[in-house]
Formats: sequence, structure tokens, C-alpha cells
Amino acid sequence: MVDAVHVALAGNPNAGKTTLFNYLTGARQHVGNYPGVTVEKKEGGYLYEGQKIRIVDLPGTYSLTAYSVEELVARDYLVNEQPDVVVNIVDASNLERNLYLSCQFLELGVPLVIALNMIDVAEKRGIRIDTEKLSLLTGVPVVPIIARTGKGVEKLLETVQAVSRADARPQTLIRYGVDIDEALRELVPVIEKHELLIETYPASWTALKILENDEQVVAKIMLKNMDIGQRLIDRSEVLARHLQDTLEAYPETVIADHRYGFVRSILRQGEVTRVTEQDRLYASEQIDKVVTNRVVGPLLMAAVLLGLYSFTFSWSGFLVDWLGMFFDLLGGLTETILPDGPVKSMIVSGVIDGVGGVLGFVPIIMFMFFGIAVLEDSGYLARVAFMMDKIFHFFGLHGSSVMPFIISGGIAGGCAVPGVLAARTLRSPKERMATLLTVPFMNCGAKLPVLTLIIAAFFPNHQARYMFLATLIAWLVALMAAKFLRMTLLRGESTPFVMELPPYRVPTGKGLLIHTWERTWQYVKKAGTVILGISILLWAMMTYPGLPSEKVAEFEAMRQQVAASGSTDGTTALLRIDQLEAGVGLRHSIAGRMGMALEPISRFAGFDWRTNIALVGGFAAKEVIVSTLGTAYSLGAVDSENTTSLKDRLAGDRHWNPIAALAFLAFIMFYSPCFVTVVAIAKEAGSWKWAFFSMGFNTIFAFGMAVGIFQLGTLLGLG
Ligand code: GDP
Ligand code: MG
Repeated sequence: MVDAVHVALAGNPNAGKTTLFNYLTGARQHVGNYPGVTVEKKEGGYLYEGQKIRIVDLPGTYSLTAYSVEELVARDYLVNEQPDVVVNIVDASNLERNLYLSCQFLELGVPLVIALNMIDVAEKRGIRIDTEKLSLLTGVPVVPIIARTGKGVEKLLETVQAVSRADARPQTLIRYGVDIDEALRELVPVIEKHELLIETYPASWTALKILENDEQVVAKIMLKNMDIGQRLIDRSEVLARHLQDTLEAYPETVIADHRYGFVRSILRQGEVTRVTEQDRLYASEQIDKVVTNRVVGPLLMAAVLLGLYSFTFSWSGFLVDWLGMFFDLLGGLTETILPDGPVKSMIVSGVIDGVGGVLGFVPIIMFMFFGIAVLEDSGYLARVAFMMDKIFHFFGLHGSSVMPFIISGGIAGGCAVPGVLAARTLRSPKERMATLLTVPFMNCGAKLPVLTLIIAAFFPNHQARYMFLATLIAWLVALMAAKFLRMTLLRGESTPFVMELPPYRVPTGKGLLIHTWERTWQYVKKAGTVILGISILLWAMMTYPGLPSEKVAEFEAMRQQVAASGSTDGTTALLRIDQLEAGVGLRHSIAGRMGMALEPISRFAGFDWRTNIALVGGFAAKEVIVSTLGTAYSLGAVDSENTTSLKDRLAGDRHWNPIAALAFLAFIMFYSPCFVTVVAIAKEAGSWKWAFFSMGFNTIFAFGMAVGIFQLGTLLGLG
């Protein structure tokens, strides 16, 4: 005969555990105490289809912390005795509080069945519950019962039997916010590597408990391994300080908030009608009725996003101007102070132009991130994700993908690097991968100057409209690409949407500043390191090898000739010779040769060799496209006035026309993510394979698009 199946009944006090226990066991029960404590332990048994079932009635608790004896007894029993099935009795008339405990069973990873009890009481109060949906969202079977009359109990036993055979453990889908999730991701591998308590608890649970500063777990860890234990505690303290600084909250509070958020999200989707009295949660609930309303919600969202957009661009304008002036001044000063020669050329064209171009953009980035931090810290962004989930789901993504998209430039003017990092909140590897690969399609801050330049040059009458269109197209392409990836390489189930709706908070000034600074700093750091290097490299590639000496001599002779002739417009002639020399020099340089080598292919999309130089530079960092284009066109310009702006120069160049400009825009928007993003993708995806894939896939896709636009446009005679 097979061993008795071991079932534990767990739940809140007064949920009906004892009632169900008595109903099942009848006379076959035994009452004692748990060892060492005065908590009553009831054990009994029943037969189900000839199978003996041993059943234990656990003490009722509201949580699984280590604060009370009952809680300790309940969780010790679950992990030490390892019941085959845990039946979580949930009071249907008090779902929110009861499911909070269920969350913790999910975290603990015990084989769970939810018995939704007292549905008679719930019905009387007008509460309807979609049990199937509840089951889908929690990932565990849910059976409605009335323990007092035994209604539904037969089905419950059947389910218990099935779960005891299946040997499946639920996985928690709860996310605890960026900071805590990040800490968990760091702790879990350490716990696994050193095999700390893994025979009893899942590593993720242990990690969570360390962050919650659970005395029992911390003590057990320290007993096992002092050094590693201390390391884990140190990390937990870093998190605690960070949360204190940013949210003025303890990790336990934030974790609890997210559990409630998880529950609330489930309840909203389960279309449960119910009222909760708790004040902060109650207030959030009332606000959400308006904010996530089917009609008002999207309108409000559009207004908020537009507000963010105009806030960013109008308020940062003067700072952008100031910075621009500062770098112009710096360039002019350097120009006069330094002696002519390669060092001066490098500092002016390489360092100041390149890095200045990027830093000049910092105010916009900063204001944007500040606005996003307000939305994020207040809890509104979670609502945006909540509302967008349906659309995202259709494209094989998840509501949590919204944030990475927005940060990457979904409202124009972000950066894909923090965007890629933000994709960490996604739990499903495939949805996460699809998000990582498509966020670079957004119009990041580095693409903005290029878009602005080209639009101003070729479509000067409809700038705002084209800008808006570019944003729209970026979203469309990103979502379609995601859909394509999810139907091919990343095929698989989508995870059910359980997005936390944490209670609203008033953001703290300090928290906003820290969040804004963290993200802005990433951008500034990039300008100071990667972009500085790339600018210098590009400058060198566009300068060396210089012209052979006989060529230089030729130009020198031409100058002499002009000087000797003594003509009136000698200065203009001399300037022309300078430009001619620079142009020939550029063709002769490494970059120029690369640009020309690519021209036979790039011609199909309408790009000439100078554009190619800028595009190759743009792979290193999109920020350098404009400055490289500027250098290439000023060096390469043979017959134009040196005083015209790049915009006018492009508009007047014979290689350029509106169709070529459109093709160029399409290519810029969708070709390979910049170098730093590629590295970030490799890191986040855990392999270079995907990073290379995104370079290749995006570039081929973008080129195809550019060729299509250029060829079709030319065919139709639009050029
Ligand atoms: P425990 O604290 O979880 O053991 O809860 P009990 O089993 O002691 O039940 C608490 C109260 O709820 C008792 O008065 C039960 O009679 C009542 N109760 C339990 N199940 C149901 C049910 O399905 N419907 C109704 N109306 N009352 C129930
Ligand atoms: Mg009881």
C-alpha cells in the first residue's frame, strides 16, 4: 500500500479551516500540541478513493513572518514536514486580506490548492468571484466551497488528489519593484552557490526573507556560513538604506506593498466587486476607479504623457542653449589659444565637438528622467503598464514592457541603455528577450538631433507633425518586430498579466532627485568615456593618413599662384583651396575609404560615402551622427560657401532630396543599436549571441526599409 498522502490546511484565522477539517475527518482526529509550544495541533485522516489521506489543521495566521508563534509554527511545519499538498483556505468574503497570505505560500513554493470558502457569505454580500481567472492569475487551482455544508468539497478532494500526484510547485510571479528585484537577483545565485538552506527553502524565498530582515532565517544562515551570511546581510542593508533614501520606507513595507499590489491587480482582473476599509489602500482604490477607467484612463494617460513631453522640452530649453553657448565658447577659445596642428584639430573636432554634442543634450535627458521619476515614484506608471497590457499582450509583450519602452525613448528623448536595464522587471525570459531586442527601435535622445536636423532641412513646414509621426512609427515598428520575434525565434506562451498596483505615494523630493540623478549619470558617464573615445577615434579616422607630400605640394603651389596673381577676391580663392584640400584629404582618410567602399551597396538606399562615414560612426554612438555628418560635409564640400549651416548644405547637396532624407531617417531609426546598448543587451541577455543578432537583424531590416523607400520614391519620381 502507498503511504498516506499528507495534506495541510492553512489560512487566516476564522477562514473555516477547523470547519473543513471536522467535515473531512469526522471522528478520526487527534488533538495535541506542536512540540515545545502551546499551539494546538489537530491531526486526522480520511479516505479518498481507497487512498489514505493524513490531514493537519495548521494554526491560523495572517502572514508568514517570524513575529508570532503561530506564524513560526505554520511555516516551520510547511518546510520541515513538507506536506504533499497545502490547502489554503481563503475566506471569499474577505479576499484581499486572505490572498495576502496566499502570496506568501506562493513565495514559499509549496504545492498549493486554494479552497475558496464561504462563497455563501460572499454571495450574500454581492461579491462575485471568477474562480477560473483567479486560478489563471495565481497559477494554482482554485475550488469554491462552503465548508459548513460540504458543498464543493468533493471537487476539492479531487483537486487535492491531482495536485499530490502532479508534484508541481507553483512559482511566484510577484515583482517587488526595481530595487528589491535587483537585490534578489544578486542574492539568489549566492544562496544557490553556497547551498544555504536550499534543502528546506527555495533560494528566492530565503533571499526575500533576508531582505525582510527575518530573524529566524538570518540566524540560520549565519549558523551555516558566517562569511557569506554577512555578505548577504550587507547587501540587504545597502538596499534598506537606498529604500530609506528614496521612498522613506523599510524593505518589509515595500515588499508588503507589492504583495498587496499583486493581490489588488488580481482582484481587479477577477472582476470582483468588493470594498476595502484600509485607508491608504482604500484611497488608491478610489483613485484607480477613475485613473484606470476604460474611457478616462487612456485620455488621462495621453494628457500625462503629453504633459511630460512639453515639460521636458520647454523647461530644459534654456539650459540646452546655455550649454551650447558654453561649448561654442570653449571651442572658440581653444581655437585661439592652441597652436595649429593635429593636437588642436583633435581637441576641437574630436573632443569638444563630440563630447559637447552629447553633453549638450543632458538637460533634456535630465528633465525627462525627472518627469518619469515622478510618474514612477507616485505609482502612476504602474497604472500605465496596467492599461497598456492588453495592447502589449497582443504583440507578445507584457504590461511591464511599457516602462523600458518609455525610458528608451517611447515619448522621444530617452536612452536604450537604461531602457534595457529596466527590462529586468519582466519575469518571462522570452517576453524579456523580445523587449530587449525591440526597445532600441525607440527614438532615443541621441537620434533626436539627427531627426530634427533632417526634418528641418527637408520638411521645414511640418516639423512637429513629422516628429510625432516618427514617434508613432517607432512604436509601430517595435511592436510589429516584437510580434514577429514572438511568432518565430521567441515563440512561447505569454505569462498571465499580474501587474502590481502598489498604493499611490506622494513622491519625496529626495527620492526623485536620486532617481533622476542615477539615470542621468549613466548618460553623462557614457559621454565622458565611450563617446570621448569614439569621437577621438573617428576624428583620427577622418584625418589620417594625411595626403601624400606631393599632393600637399600641389595645393601649396596653387596657393602661391593665387597670392602671386594679386586678384581682389584672393581670400575666397584661398578658402576654396583649403576646402578642396580638406575634401581630397577626407577621401584619402581611412574613414573616407570605408565610406567609399560601402557606397556601391549604400547607393541603393541613396546614401553617399560621406553619409556612410556618419552612419558607421553612429553605430559607435548615435550622438556622433550629426557632428560626423557636419565634419564630413564641411571637409568634403568642394563648391559651397563655408558659412552655410549643415542643414542648408544637405538641402542643397545633389546627393540629397526628400526621398533620400526619408530613407536616411528610416535607417537611422531602426539600424543596429549603438555599441553601448549592444553591450548592455549582451549583459542582460546573458550571451553575446543575442547582442550580435540585434545588430545584424536591425541593420538588415533598416537597410531593407531604406532601400524600399528610396527605390519606390525614386520610381514614383518623388525625389
Ligand atoms: P478557523 O479559524 O479557520 O479554524 O475557522 P473555523 O473553522 O473555526 O470557522 C470560523 C467560523 O466560520 C465558524 O463560525 C464557522 O461555522 C464559519 N464557517 C466556516 N465555513 C463556512 C462557510 O462555508 N459558510 C459559512 N456561512 N460559515 C462558515
Ligand atoms: Mg480553527
